[in-house]
Amino acid sequence: MTECIFCKIISGEIPGQIVYKDDLVTAFNDINPAAPTHILVVPNKHFVSINDITQQDEALMGHLMLTVKNIAALQGISEKGYRLIINTGQAANQVVQHLHLHILGGHLMRHPMG
Ligand code: AMP
Ligand code: ZN
Repeated sequence: MTECIFCKIISGEIPGQIVYKDDLVTAFNDINPAAPTHILVVPNKHFVSINDITQQDEALMGHLMLTVKNIAALQGISEKGYRLIINTGQAANQVVQHLHLHILGGHLMRHPMG
């Protein structure tokens, strides 16, 4: 049994506003949005952070980035632009210990998160 909240969203154990899912990655709306569009894209496999990926995960991470591009297009933010953030570790204030990429869009970005 995992205690990881994002693993639980991926498995469907707890509800999430999922906007995209395939065998490798899941994307869902952030529960506390920092911008009009705020989506988290996560690998279905549990990694704490970017520090934990290896050469074997190269294709997975490439797929994750292509998924980001496709989601941005579906959300209608590709042309105006958007911000991608991956917080890694304590100094970046990473709160959820499952690797996730933030897509922030829909308004002019302000520091620090959207
Ligand atoms: P980070 O600071 O990069 O670890 O960001 C964690 C993000 O996860 C924050 O933006 C939270 O609002 C978001 N979050 C936490 N719990 C949930 C949840 N159950 N569903 C969706 N987003 C969540
Ligand atoms: Zn997890």
